[in-house]
Amino acid sequence: MALLDIEAIRRADGGSTVEMNKHRCPICDYLIENCQCTFGGSAHPDRSVMKRVVKDHLYLLDDVQLKHVIKLEEFWRTSSSDEEYTKCYELLKQRAAQREAGPWR
Ligand SMILES: [Zn+2]
Repeated sequence: MALLDIEAIRRADGGSTVEMNKHRCPICDYLIENCQCTFGGSAHPDRSVMKRVVKDHLYLLDDVQLKHVIKLEEFWRTSSSDEEYTKCYELLKQRAAQREAGPWR
């Protein structure tokens, strides 16, 4: 697409579509507004490895992608039968709650 066309679209919609179109979900690679990650089942490709890689390399994401992954995390609420994992999860939740309550927020 020519630069001029992009400028025309940006003017037409106030910039929001062009802005959103730059950002793809780092896990499924669809545009964030069309992200497929909350759909499960056998009809959808298994993205568990990509999910793990993205979570381990959050520094590669931009701000919009980071916020998107946080939303996905809230949706998935990953649980584990791993005892140490569960303990750490409880600890992290406690710290988050303390942060919320803190006067330094
Ligand atoms: Zn996705």
